[in-house]
Amino acid sequence: MIPYGRQWIDNEDKEEVMKVLGSDWLTTGPKVGEFENALCKYVGCKHSVAVNSGTSALDVAVGALDLPEGSEVITTPFTFAATSNALLYNRLKPVFADIQKDTRNIDPEDIRRKITPKTRAISYVDYAGHPCDIKEIKEIAEEYNLYLIEDACHALGASYYGKKIGNFADLTVFSFHPVKPITTGEGGAVVTNNSELAERARLLHSHGIDKSATERYGPDAGWAYDMKMLGRNYRMTDIQAALGISQLKKLDMFIEKRQEIAELYNELLRDCEFVEIPVTKEGIKHGWHIYTILLKDVNRDKFFTYMRKSGIGVNVHYIPTYHFSYYRKHFDFDENDYPITEDVFKRIITLPIYPKMCNEDVELVVKTIKDGNPFE
Ligand SMILES: *Cc1c(COP(=O)(O)O)cnc(C)c1O
Repeated sequence: MIPYGRQWIDNEDKEEVMKVLGSDWLTTGPKVGEFENALCKYVGCKHSVAVNSGTSALDVAVGALDLPEGSEVITTPFTFAATSNALLYNRLKPVFADIQKDTRNIDPEDIRRKITPKTRAISYVDYAGHPCDIKEIKEIAEEYNLYLIEDACHALGASYYGKKIGNFADLTVFSFHPVKPITTGEGGAVVTNNSELAERARLLHSHGIDKSATERYGPDAGWAYDMKMLGRNYRMTDIQAALGISQLKKLDMFIEKRQEIAELYNELLRDCEFVEIPVTKEGIKHGWHIYTILLKDVNRDKFFTYMRKSGIGVNVHYIPTYHFSYYRKHFDFDENDYPITEDVFKRIITLPIYPKMCNEDVELVVKTIKDGNPFE
């Protein structure tokens, strides 16, 4: 089976992890800070807080905004459930905007339609590693005084008009799950250029506890700490951080490989009349976390079964969040309000892409697609 995504771990990665295992610090040691600094340097941003998953990073990012309970946050339904769940953890109300067919990214025009007096933030996802229409989204945020959270779990290393993702929203979130641009096993990070938000994110990721509690207990209280916010234990271990430092060195090479695979797919699928290949807009450096196509006049579910039976690990990204039974039970979203999301959801398929994938694998995937027509 050719999987839809997978990690690339080499001997250098393994050695770095082994060093930590033999050291004094498995967690709260020097590697975590070192990874945070390396991430800041790569992204070109001021602050980063490493955490134990992308989901934790989203929770911490949303929490750092400290919004009043019940505030509305406009987000995309065409994402992994965690994007919207992070709003629920923080007692905020998700308001979905429809997406654009070509990039599957949130549609700025629909964001505008969804704004109410209760709107406080926009949480947008760079789907597949293709940055959103950030200029348009920032204009809306400025006009209505809204915070921006960027779920860039797909987009570490991508850029928008020459500037790396991580420098646009108030807070940007990355994931280091094995299928993501780099991996730490499980892991994630929040990055920001705002020192106040960075401080709150740092508090929230570790119990809300602040070690510099001298203002409360006096300068001689070496034992002292204060708990300032209701945080969690979302800390990344030094084992994970060591892997992250080593992986980060290879990120640009990983993205280059992904880009080559995407270009080969585009070339081989361009003449296939029942396939719509993905687009890359002007000014974009794409991260190619996933490669998705839209099927025309082909039953997606039959196509999916046929591909899986043929040993190709296709997938569907994503089931729109409002489809889930939890969301149906607690909210009354109407799928008719999201015609593009619904159309894309019915026709989309994710093809395998990962840095170590070879050209022969890509050719096999495309041959299987073409041989299967019309999938009846
Ligand atoms: C992977 C992912 C997450 C969650 O990250 P985890 O590290 O798996 O918790 C959140 N949002 C998006 C868009 C993702 O792809």
